[in-house]
Amino acid sequence: VKNASNKEEGGAKSAGGGPTIFDNIIAKEIPSSIVYEDDKVLAFRDINPQAPVHVLIIPKQRDGLTELGKAEQRHEDILGHLLYASKLVAEKEGIADGFRVVINSGPTACQSVYHLHLHVLGGRQLKWPPG
Ligand code: 5GP
Repeated sequence: VKNASNKEEGGAKSAGGGPTIFDNIIAKEIPSSIVYEDDKVLAFRDINPQAPVHVLIIPKQRDGLTELGKAEQRHEDILGHLLYASKLVAEKEGIADGFRVVINSGPTACQSVYHLHLHVLGGRQLKWPPG
């Protein structure tokens, strides 16, 4: 299975709407380290962590949400659910006192997987601004 974490390869690609590696993760066809799961979202460790804690949270149904910039009003509930799940993940990982939630939307933001996802980062002193 192609590893989509290579930004040089994947970062400049346009959004598209086809299946992504996250579909394989949801289907458990490829392994991932799951941190949290409910009926709507799945949270698993990033394969290329940028901090001691680096968890991705994705909706199990993409439903057109390839990227945040394509969100529509009907996605409000799942977007809220994803954000709340990030707080549950932070608590579970012991970083609730300081963590960052990032969404890269589109090629200019270096999004590489076109299935909306939140990055939850923490476990070290984070710097600002990000690159
Ligand atoms: P983006 O650059 O789109 O915001 O983030 C995509 C993230 O998905 C990257 O941080 C990358 O490391 C992660 N990723 C890509 N492929 C896989 C994979 O197969 N498994 C896991 N766990 N993470 C992946």
